[in-house]
Amino acid sequence: MELPKQFYFPNLYCILPLLILVVVFLTGCTSTFVVGSRGTGRFDTVVIDAGHGGFDRGAKPASGIYEKDLALDTARRVTRKLRENGLHVVETRTGDYFVTLDQRVMASNRLSDSIFVSIHYNWDKKKKASGIETFYLNPNSSRLASRIQSEMVATYHGQDRGIKSRKLYVLRNNKRPAVLCELGFISNSAENGKVQSSQTRQKLAENIAKAILAERASFLSQSANDR
Ligand SMILES: [Zn+2]
Repeated sequence: MELPKQFYFPNLYCILPLLILVVVFLTGCTSTFVVGSRGTGRFDTVVIDAGHGGFDRGAKPASGIYEKDLALDTARRVTRKLRENGLHVVETRTGDYFVTLDQRVMASNRLSDSIFVSIHYNWDKKKKASGIETFYLNPNSSRLASRIQSEMVATYHGQDRGIKSRKLYVLRNNKRPAVLCELGFISNSAENGKVQSSQTRQKLAENIAKAILAERASFLSQSANDR
């Protein structure tokens, strides 16, 4: 027996409200999921990790001071700025000495209210390579990575190499939200010229601190709204 046509093609006016409901529901789910999974959540402590140190000099610059010294100087400036704004900061090193990767990760793993921010400068055998990039691994660190990345790019109009998910030791062994920032290529003489200037490093540090404070503020305002 042949069925009447409306059994094959339900009337559009009947299914339209249902379709709208499904779309609204899915959109709600997606935005809640994205916001909830990408933010760091509450933190009161920032572990600032100056890359390398001691015999581990890090990358060799086109000229000027090595990566370990640039990273330490920048990290100390970030620390100062965060403390001025009332945040608790733990530094993985405060001088020119070697710290293992495990000791660095332990600094944040033992503090349940912390996030981890590692400071590095980049190097490539292709001297033309330039730009800024930020690494993260856990999705809860991606929004912080984006904030820091865009602030760093704006500091000296560096090429935006984007945020990237990488299984780096200090990221994959970290129980806390964690990012690793590469603030520019010191193998590139033009870019190295910029970051060898303490004025540029001061601006980079201020902007990294600004991004961290913005991430914290967005959590605090979100939880105030939830109350
Ligand atoms: Zn490095």
